[in-house]
Amino acid sequence: YLNVPAIISAAEVTDAQAIHPGYGFLSENADFAERVEQSGFIFIGPRAETIRLMGDKISAIRAMKKAGVPCVPGSDGPLGAHEKDTLKLAEKIGYPVLIKAAAGGGGKGMRVVHTEAALLNAISLTRGEAKAAFGSDTVYLEKYLHNPRHIEIQVLADQHGNAIHLGERDCSLQRRHQKVVEECPAPGLPEKLRHKIGERCADACRKIGYRGAGTFEFLYQDGEFYFIEMNTRVQVEHPVTEMVTGVDIVREQIRIAAGEKLAFRQKDIEWRGHAIECRINAEDPKSFVPSPGCITGWHPPGGPGIRVDSHVFTNYFVPPYYDSMIAKLIAFGETRDIAIARMKIALSEMVVDGIKTNIPLHRDIMNDTHFLTGGVNIHYLQKKLGL
Ligand code: ADP
Repeated sequence: YLNVPAIISAAEVTDAQAIHPGYGFLSENADFAERVEQSGFIFIGPRAETIRLMGDKISAIRAMKKAGVPCVPGSDGPLGAHEKDTLKLAEKIGYPVLIKAAAGGGGKGMRVVHTEAALLNAISLTRGEAKAAFGSDTVYLEKYLHNPRHIEIQVLADQHGNAIHLGERDCSLQRRHQKVVEECPAPGLPEKLRHKIGERCADACRKIGYRGAGTFEFLYQDGEFYFIEMNTRVQVEHPVTEMVTGVDIVREQIRIAAGEKLAFRQKDIEWRGHAIECRINAEDPKSFVPSPGCITGWHPPGGPGIRVDSHVFTNYFVPPYYDSMIAKLIAFGETRDIAIARMKIALSEMVVDGIKTNIPLHRDIMNDTHFLTGGVNIHYLQKKLGL
């Protein structure tokens, strides 16, 4: 699945016109996008140079600042070799600070530092890890926010200078910086703020000549948004936005790649009801150790407002080599309470035999008092799990 020549020859022998990169590794690989276009196919995604600009978190932050998007206070660029300058900078930002790899992703390449004494050592450790994992040891500093929520904005932009936003998703329930549950809209977020930040993102798309679907990720604390990164692809959690707006995001990606104009204007977009997504992983629900193997029984749930996106079936073998996600379970309702009630029933109906899954964890979350109230921060799930 990372063999680019094999993918291109598959496109050739099947007479494909375009390649959709999904949301795997190649979806944010500018070299892949370039190779696809050089081979005469359409890459369903942004231009290679946009992917490159946003793939490096430092250049992404710079571009967003220039476009008027609010960012986390930080180093404004890569950390240099001068230890004194770095110490001064961290003091100015104020501890705790977060060291981040410019090429990082998937929740890796980040380290929180609470004291000046620990800073330099932590930087060299993060550099080493980043070099090994991402091939680049460039790191930068960011203010570590104490109790933010993760709120992101979905955008769509065509090749004719039109850009709209599809509102926000709340992805604060995370474990090791990886999303576990996502929802749309974000509980308690004032509508005015949605439009304000959404418009900023759509405007940034116009300014950088963005093309396709994309997501601006923010941390949200005390009524303020702080940009952290942009994903230049469709995201795992896009179905919750589709359920609430009625817009088929993948269809729009394909239409945009075909050179068509956006089918919607901003005023056409309406948010109706509430949607929640649970990521179903093949893993032990307590220890989180991956649980590959044969799915001996598979019964996905159904009924009004229930959507299951999955590639698995009875006798499917979950390989040990890849991401452990085997399905996305999405529940829609006129209100958040109805969506949660439907999700609870769906979780109780879902059967995955032969391997362990995190379904028990999701059942637990759907009964959690703070989750039910809505608006928990990014540390909540880890704390609940006692991690
Ligand atoms: P990745 O590319 O690995 O997904 P992100 O920059 O999107 O990395 O950050 C992933 C998660 O890490 C965020 O959703 C949030 O939980 C946490 N995080 C990132 N930056 C900060 C910060 N400045 N303060 C506190 N938490 C952060």
